[in-house]
Amino acid sequence: MSQPLSYIHAEPDDAWSTYLAQVERVLPYLGPLARWAETLRRPKRALIVDIPIELDDGRVAHYEGFRVQHNLSRGPGKGGVRYHPDVTLEEVMALAAWMSIKSAAVNLPYGGAKGGIRVAPELLSRKELERLTRRYTSEIGLIIGPQQDIPAPDVNTDAQVMAWMMDTYSMNVGATVTGVVTGKPVHLGGSLGRVKATGRGVFVTGREAARRIGLPLEGARVAVQGMGNVGAAAAELFVQAGARLVAVQDHSATRVHEGGFDLATLMPHLREHRGVAGYAGGEAADAEAFWDLPCDILIPAALEGQITAARAQRLRARLVLEGANGPTLPAADEVLAERGVLVVPDVVCNAGGVTVSYFEWVQDFSSFFWTEDEINQRLDKILVNALKAIWDTADHHRITLRTAAYAVACERILTARQVRGLYP
Ligand code: NAD
Repeated sequence: MSQPLSYIHAEPDDAWSTYLAQVERVLPYLGPLARWAETLRRPKRALIVDIPIELDDGRVAHYEGFRVQHNLSRGPGKGGVRYHPDVTLEEVMALAAWMSIKSAAVNLPYGGAKGGIRVAPELLSRKELERLTRRYTSEIGLIIGPQQDIPAPDVNTDAQVMAWMMDTYSMNVGATVTGVVTGKPVHLGGSLGRVKATGRGVFVTGREAARRIGLPLEGARVAVQGMGNVGAAAAELFVQAGARLVAVQDHSATRVHEGGFDLATLMPHLREHRGVAGYAGGEAADAEAFWDLPCDILIPAALEGQITAARAQRLRARLVLEGANGPTLPAADEVLAERGVLVVPDVVCNAGGVTVSYFEWVQDFSSFFWTEDEINQRLDKILVNALKAIWDTADHHRITLRTAAYAVACERILTARQVRGLYP
């Protein structure tokens, strides 16, 4: 009855197509709520903005920016802002939709949103980056706000970018509104534990999954793609738990070390050189060979679409922990399920970030701040409970954890949709 969206033309392996395929798989488990499923297949609101900025040399450059609110049935939009040259409306739509599913899978009172600017931020000076961020914030100021839609960091954005966003929004409305973004610096209403929260969540859900499949963390071999905010924090916690980090890959290099990398030297190298390239420990490896390496736990924590069906046939892990959003293509999901490789899906595995963002938002509203221990304990509890509910659903229907996570999440979203009714 509804026409397909006219403004989007996604290729089969694009992020939006991946998301739609994931939605199709959950429909048989939604019962009468499937009547509302079309809600999931289209964003509620998609804003495209032009961002002109003056460069340091006096020239004017224009950038494309996006903010998409996929679903707001359960609460305000929530989701990060990505700065990357490959950002497209289609990608931001998928990332926003995954945020709807994620917030609902973990039962946070949010809908899903995401933003992005099509830019290579490493080519801009700090001042240019600030001007870009401020103009983008003003442009999307039409639809963001602490009760409407709350941005956060994602790829290539950090606490400083959030501070500029918060300041710009606050100047525009004439009041200090700390709750308009999360992932802020701690002295500006940020939350303790936020920076490492996503990596911590990958560890917590990975620890639970490993326990259930009888895989001891002590001595487990871990391979990580993407040693940024998410991947590095997760790697650190696994190593602290006794695992060995045997392979790392980022945009700059791939390195392997059967005995396990020494984090005391790897982490400072990553901070100083902004990548693995040039690190002396272990041995260099071919980028494609990363997917053949023997390991127990594989953590894709870079970009989407990395685990193709062909790579899924080859990879040798028992457990895949999706630190990144959408790293596994639908065809690869089938291969992994057939091969008995357990995948903890992104919508719960990397939900630690949005969960501590939720804590930050709540703390900002109450102007009362919690200790890091309190935050980490509450995070642990929420993720363990969310994973348990998803696991029970998977066992009940004999489906993958991903489809089960979608079943739990879509039931919450569509029930909210149904009881709110259609307006007018
Ligand atoms: P980041 O910018 O801190 O790190 C990204 C990492 O990916 C870097 O190490 C980079 O070198 C690597 N990378 C980029 N392109 C690559 C390529 N082609 N091949 C291999 N490695 C490549 O970003 P992040 O915040 O750690 O986010 C990583 C992923 O986690 C993204 O999918 C993001 O959406 C997701 N995520 C992030 C958060 C968060 O709180 N930051 C929360 C949930 C999900």
